[in-house]
Amino acid sequence: MINETKVALVTGANKGIGKEIARGLARKGMTVLLGARNPERGRQAARELTADGEVIFIQLDVTHEESVNAAVQEIEKRYGKLDVLVNNAGVGAARSKPGEVTTEQIRKVYETNVFGVVTVTHAILPLLRKSPAGRIVNISSLRGSLSSPGAFVGQPSMPYSSSKTALNALTVHYAKELADTPIKVNAGAPGFVATDFNNFAGERTPEQGSVIAIKLATLDENGPTGGFFDDNGSLSW
Ligand code: NAP
Repeated sequence: MINETKVALVTGANKGIGKEIARGLARKGMTVLLGARNPERGRQAARELTADGEVIFIQLDVTHEESVNAAVQEIEKRYGKLDVLVNNAGVGAARSKPGEVTTEQIRKVYETNVFGVVTVTHAILPLLRKSPAGRIVNISSLRGSLSSPGAFVGQPSMPYSSSKTALNALTVHYAKELADTPIKVNAGAPGFVATDFNNFAGERTPEQGSVIAIKLATLDENGPTGGFFDDNGSLSW
């Protein structure tokens, strides 16, 4: 029997923006599966969110297919479907001149930010198709834009920025394939958020950074698909 409570999976949710996305979705009454690669950190974060609703730790390393497949099997057994997938897990890379970037450096970032998203999305899509209103939210970055003012200002990290450009492209590909289904697929940019990711240099709080993801995860049937958004609206790719 299909559970009527909405079930959401947030990857990389043991800290930072992902943890706040988990909190926000739990406050909206969803059962939230808090994905974390490290069980200790994941269980601790889920415990910290108990006052916000039903938040359950699930072991998930987006770069390990066995870990992803085990999590998907567990979700299928327990809930029979998934309503919301937030691909949040991400890693950065030091800034350097593009000509100095090695294949190994770029592959390391893509393993999580691009291939990890494909691994999770590919494995979980059958469960999202069982939802009456599936939503996929890819946590991207303005750094992934090729055309917005400031996209190449300063010395961006080519591995990181281009991984988010690739993530934006994946978003459009999935959205186009799923256009005639109830599933909506969008990318969200959280802004410059104070987390471990940037040694807490960001000017926004993780809670503020979670707002766009929560909005895209809870779009109604008239909401957009295949778009790129921040709190102020649509962004250019
Ligand atoms: P964060 O605090 O460093 O959190 C990153 C999360 O991803 C952690 O939970 C980390 O787990 C997890 N993670 C990394 N690799 C993983 C893997 N292989 N499998 C599962 N989980 C993994 O960073 P954040 O700022 O919240 O970043 C969250 C997302 O927002 C990222 O996609 C990032 O690119 C994006 N973003 C951030 C900013 C910003 O200003 N902070 C701006 C734009 C976009 P561990 O604790 O185990 O490492």
